[in-house]
Amino acid sequence: MKQSPRFLAAFGASIVLTIGTATAAFAGTGVDAAAPSSSAAAPSSAAVATAGRTALARSDQAADRFGIDRSPARAAVDRAINRDDYQCGPTDFDAYIDGLINGLSKDEFTFLVGHIEMLDVPTYDALLYGSDTDQRYALRSDYRTQLTHTFRDVKRFWDIQSGDIQLMSMHGSIMGDAAAVSRVLQLPLGEPFSKSPAEADKHAKEIAEAVDSGMFDGGNNPLFTLNAFAFTAEGDPDPLVKGVPDKLIFGDGIVDALNAMGIGDVGPRAVMGHEFGHHVQFEDNLFDSPLTGPEATRRTELMADAFGTYFATHARGLSLNTKRVLQAEKTFYEVGDCAFTNDGHHGTPNQRLRSSAWAAGIADAARPQGKILPSLTFADMFEQELPVIVAPDAS
Ligand SMILES: [Zn+2]
Repeated sequence: MKQSPRFLAAFGASIVLTIGTATAAFAGTGVDAAAPSSSAAAPSSAAVATAGRTALARSDQAADRFGIDRSPARAAVDRAINRDDYQCGPTDFDAYIDGLINGLSKDEFTFLVGHIEMLDVPTYDALLYGSDTDQRYALRSDYRTQLTHTFRDVKRFWDIQSGDIQLMSMHGSIMGDAAAVSRVLQLPLGEPFSKSPAEADKHAKEIAEAVDSGMFDGGNNPLFTLNAFAFTAEGDPDPLVKGVPDKLIFGDGIVDALNAMGIGDVGPRAVMGHEFGHHVQFEDNLFDSPLTGPEATRRTELMADAFGTYFATHARGLSLNTKRVLQAEKTFYEVGDCAFTNDGHHGTPNQRLRSSAWAAGIADAARPQGKILPSLTFADMFEQELPVIVAPDAS
């Protein structure tokens, strides 16, 4: 539902990553570095690259249906395959993802390119079938307490109906469950999904066996869950999502990435603030504007940044140190969003930082009384500030 961005909004996921470090990162596993596998039956590297390229292009159709931007991991694999299509400066996040890909064994990389839908399986599984009462979607123990508390706090903070939003996680290890994988592969999303039951079972068995054998850290390689997103089916005519409750889904991989980038202290909470900001937008009908395409997405993403930062820094929100929050946000805003013409464009790092800094200033002005602005008032103030936030800043 690309034309219906209110359907689902993902954190920082639309990023077309850079090629900057790809060559170095691929020194060990290079897809076009003629990688004859030890197995005689292994496909040639050229065949693998072609298959992977086709699968990625087709998989974009499935992402469109959910309004999900391509995950950074998919973009990184894409970049590795289509090396010449991207140009944009490398960032910490790029380096992290390249490190993950570089860390794959040759067999893992070949398997991944041949089963590229793995990058989407945990997302669609959690989105359509996950529930907050199912242990398989429980938040991982190392971040469960903190994010559960933050979720409670953010629900109290904003004046929207939020009692029905389910907080859950997604784990790559779900791919060890062949039945769960097969169910996703049969979804009518177009290639590489839409498989017949027999075909889906066959592919699911291959994936489950690979994961069970320990490949991809038993499925828990962060590549497969490198995202957090807000989801609502409300107002969406797609029969596939009928009856699916509102959700806020946190992938293990995004937490791993934030930790690896040195912002594990406030990063996950700030991301939750942003994602919950999308739920405020769903409930307050803030997705409608005269803007279209990338500008429309940029507006709602920058607004979610503002909602998130206001909550994170407000005395009656998380009351986190403003400087630290902005530092952390600077790091994850620099995810290399150069996709200025992409419908999933999140805004440039500078624009995102300006939006957050503006929101932190509003929160700070509320001290010491600590009044929380109604969400619609805050949104109005944001609309007035938006032209300043997106004003050209190149010197
Ligand atoms: Zn977002």
